[in-house]
Amino acid sequence: MPLTAAQQTRLRDDMRGLIKGDVRCEEVTQQLYATDASILQAQPVCIVCPRNTDDVAAIVKYAAEENITLHPRGAGTSLTGESLGEGIILVFSRYMRRILQTKDDTVTIQPGLLRRRLNGIIGQSQNRLFGPLAGNVSSASLGSILARNGAGIHYLRYGLPSEHLVSLTVVLANGDLLKLDRNSLIRPIQGDGSVALAQEIAYGKEYVYAGKIAHLLNSRTGEQLVESANQLHVNRAGYAGHTVLQGKAKQYVDLVPLFAGSEGTLGVTVEATIKTVSLPQRKSAAAFFFKSIFHALEAVSVVQLLHPVLCELIDRRRLTMIRDWDSRYRPLIPGDAEAALLVELDAGTLEAPKSAEECKNNLKHLIDLVQTKKQLCFQTLRVNTEPDFQLFDQVIRRSELVLGRMRQSIQAIPLFDDVAVPLDAMNDTVSDLLTLLQRHRITASLSGHAGQGHLRIHPLLDLAQPDRDSTLSSLAEDVYATILQRGGTISSEWGAGLLKSQFLPLQFPHLISHYKDIKETFDPQYQLNPGRVIPQENHWTTFLRRGLQKRGQPPPNPVWESQTRLAALQRKLSPDQVEIQLKWEPAHVFESAYQCNGCGECLRFDRQSRICPLFRGTATIEYAPRSKADLLRGILENDIELETLTSERAKEIADTCFHCRMCDIECPAKIDTCVLAFRSKAAYVAAHGLPLTDLIASRLDNILDGLMPGSFLVNAAMRNRVVRWLFEKTLNIPQRRTMPKLSYRSYLNRIRWSPLRHRLSSEQTDKPRVALFVDTFANYFDPQLVELAVQILEHNGFSVHVPLRQLASGRASFAVGHAVRAEWLARRNVVLLAELIRQGYKIVTIEPYSASCLTKDYRHLIGSEESELMADNVADFCSLLLQHHRSGKLQRDFQPLLYRVGYHAPCSGLALSVSLTTDVMPAERLLRLIPGLGVQRMERGCCGMAGLWGFQQKNYRQSLQIGIPLFRALRPADIDFGTSDCISCCSQMAHGSRKRTVHPIRLLAMAYGFCPPLR
Ligand SMILES: Cc1cc2nc3c(=O)[nH]c(=O)nc-3n(C[C@H](O)[C@H](O)[C@H](O)COP(=O)(O)OP(=O)(O)OC[C@H]3O[C@@H](n4cnc5c(N)ncnc54)[C@H](O)[C@@H]3O)c2cc1C
Ligand code: SF4
Ligand code: SF4
Repeated sequence: MPLTAAQQTRLRDDMRGLIKGDVRCEEVTQQLYATDASILQAQPVCIVCPRNTDDVAAIVKYAAEENITLHPRGAGTSLTGESLGEGIILVFSRYMRRILQTKDDTVTIQPGLLRRRLNGIIGQSQNRLFGPLAGNVSSASLGSILARNGAGIHYLRYGLPSEHLVSLTVVLANGDLLKLDRNSLIRPIQGDGSVALAQEIAYGKEYVYAGKIAHLLNSRTGEQLVESANQLHVNRAGYAGHTVLQGKAKQYVDLVPLFAGSEGTLGVTVEATIKTVSLPQRKSAAAFFFKSIFHALEAVSVVQLLHPVLCELIDRRRLTMIRDWDSRYRPLIPGDAEAALLVELDAGTLEAPKSAEECKNNLKHLIDLVQTKKQLCFQTLRVNTEPDFQLFDQVIRRSELVLGRMRQSIQAIPLFDDVAVPLDAMNDTVSDLLTLLQRHRITASLSGHAGQGHLRIHPLLDLAQPDRDSTLSSLAEDVYATILQRGGTISSEWGAGLLKSQFLPLQFPHLISHYKDIKETFDPQYQLNPGRVIPQENHWTTFLRRGLQKRGQPPPNPVWESQTRLAALQRKLSPDQVEIQLKWEPAHVFESAYQCNGCGECLRFDRQSRICPLFRGTATIEYAPRSKADLLRGILENDIELETLTSERAKEIADTCFHCRMCDIECPAKIDTCVLAFRSKAAYVAAHGLPLTDLIASRLDNILDGLMPGSFLVNAAMRNRVVRWLFEKTLNIPQRRTMPKLSYRSYLNRIRWSPLRHRLSSEQTDKPRVALFVDTFANYFDPQLVELAVQILEHNGFSVHVPLRQLASGRASFAVGHAVRAEWLARRNVVLLAELIRQGYKIVTIEPYSASCLTKDYRHLIGSEESELMADNVADFCSLLLQHHRSGKLQRDFQPLLYRVGYHAPCSGLALSVSLTTDVMPAERLLRLIPGLGVQRMERGCCGMAGLWGFQQKNYRQSLQIGIPLFRALRPADIDFGTSDCISCCSQMAHGSRKRTVHPIRLLAMAYGFCPPLR
């Protein structure tokens, strides 16, 4: 039952007094933890981020006293609503994510540590890893992997996570701490499980619980024993009681496998010691393509003969969508494949690799068997090199994520996507399922870890149908009945969660009462994660995520209906200004807010990804892109008040997006987080006005215009320590930041009064015509760069026009949520530039960020025909020249440049180039054409500058922290200069690495002989 405001305040104050960690009860935070990657939703009363075991024990005891439920949570990417709940959410991924101890073959960790992060660290330092992965490869926390003990993608290589557990420390519902060590198993006395106090004192609580559980297990009925024994090894539904009693006479009790896989319902893990293994060798893998899914399933049994370590099934729908996702897959994945099997054979480990000959022979033998002898597949593709393996892994990864890209009202629903059957029943089961789905008139997508009998079935449904709940329920019942008839399990990895627990009695009609006894032994009041494993009264459909049916649907209103409510809140702006701030382009906001499926792909820390710099820096899940969608969805669904957007907490969340646009390419569902954050910030601005520093940032072009005549004084002042100190205190400009030198005259002013003006104005010509968009940094701080750009363009046969009435792109206004100014700038620029486009001009920007603003932000802000026109006719300088080169027109009269430069691809440039996997960026490719110039790509993530963001004192430290990997990569002596096509990135790179950094335009100009070489 929801608490009153007074109860919440008391709860928060009580808990803050008890623990060192964070306690948050405000609406915004509740909303951010109300969903995960499942189709369910539950609004918690409070979110607690414990800092240590004492915090956990204190909260657990307090929750028991107050009769509030507790829900442990890692990254919140469960597909069955496992960590959702209406009580207190215990978040481990914030603080309890450390590696406590590393030994040769074990590591002791806290539960909030992500598996990917652990493996990144011990992979580098020890050439080892924690093998099992029952979870989302990007974001699964170790606490959740152990709490679910699922088979996972690496099951064939490593087995279950519990098989790698050495010890576990858990806090029970009454606050007791159990230290369970598998090296010293407990041998309880026989009897009814009761233990005298003296024994409890002598042997500890572990002894007491071991006795109770041994007694329960020994009292199982014959039917319960049969059900227990008949489980698949990969079963993940229910408690794993059958592995608890050990020894010849079953005299020892091992409680670890009971807690592993208990989905946080028996105890809260606070520490675990897990085994690590040597890094695997990867030499033998292949993709097999089939004309029928049944041929693929038949091939699985052939593949088994060679003991694969990975065997993944992907169906036609997913293959097609993967081909569309990235053009690199088109030549690799045949268009007519109905299914694919991706198979990897064992090649040993780094310490003990198998010989290359043996691996080659095994793979050849497998291909012979599947393709030639059995004629099951029509095409195979061998995976040989490291880049091949990267593509191979990426296809598997994308097969899990790709359905999130569907934009129709028919959606792929993760409802029963984790069933498993014995291997020899796969073919018949799939045949039964297809008949069943046909009967329900539903199509579905099918994939899975086929090598272990696992199937991921996603029905494609329109959830806007009036009979939605009954359709989902009856469908689930029928599918589970089919699976169980074939001797399978309704969960082999994800766990039962809120979604499936109600179906558990179907699988375990006799054992379910035994499971209740186990639950009540550890948690008699059903305090810990209730509703999971042991079904609860509420039907699972009552937890269905609100607004789920709105994915892919058109938005309800042309203009955000509650503008007037927020307008009433405004204090500093006039009503018409407020109206602009809140005029959401509903289609885009609506689509982005609902399309986020919580997949957690944006919770990444690894180097292969850049999403999301501020989340990475703080490891605060609330700052990840996902939270912006959660927040706006809450508003659209009326789960939280619109006015909440004007709260400091909402601003804090929105401010963590600095508009880098990496979500555009890295979020599989293509969520436009920038727009969501911008709208949220704009609402805050509507109510509170802009802070002075944000006002300065968004009006920088006007201010610089005013300062220009005294630029020498400004530059001198910027070198004076006292003035800098004063600026830091008043204007939030960090003292230590190296500031770019203000030019004595802006570029646009120079040409306005120059004889060149006529040459750079519109003229009739046969040459390809380009209009140069200059933007703030180049205009005021580096006019020479624009002059060089003009020279290069003209040298390459372009007719260049520089429109004098152009304004700043408004990048800073977008970043701070100044919607009035952003829209004002956008409208004027669009009118001017669209007219030029109609006259045959292509708009060319000096920096990719400006191009991104003109094409993406303007489109969503204005949504006019003219802004659409812009979207198709704007290019950044380097992309334009590269196109020119590709059509054979680029002038190659370069002089050699004998330098080695480190190239950093700006985030906005990557986002424009469509994919992070684009191996070479336009600027990089152009620079490589210059003879003698060594170009090294520095793929070290974001530089941390984000336009003016890093120029603010409050962000200075974080800005440098984000850039550290890049600065380190630039420092070696063999790199002479840095280079990047974003001017603010150049400034940050030079500041952080102390290495001169220039725009590629300058290097190209040097090579053409338009300016002197660098010294
Ligand atoms: C795209 C995608 C692909 C996926 N693929 C797979 C897959 O192949 N295999 C698979 O098994 N899963 C998969 N999942 C599901 C999901 O990733 C896993 O459930 C993952 O382990 C969740 O990790 P988490 O940290 O987000 O856990 P959460 O969702 O936060 O929690 C999961 C469970 O662990 C419990 N838990 C967390 N911490 C503790 C603790 N300290 N003590 C006790 N209990 C705790 C929670 O209470 C909850 O029951 C996938 C999910 C997505 C979105
Ligand atoms: S924002 Fe994108 S990547 Fe992040 S959870 Fe949502 S859909 Fe997944
Ligand atoms: S645009 Fe960049 S800063 Fe904003 S949420 Fe996405 S990745 Fe983070």
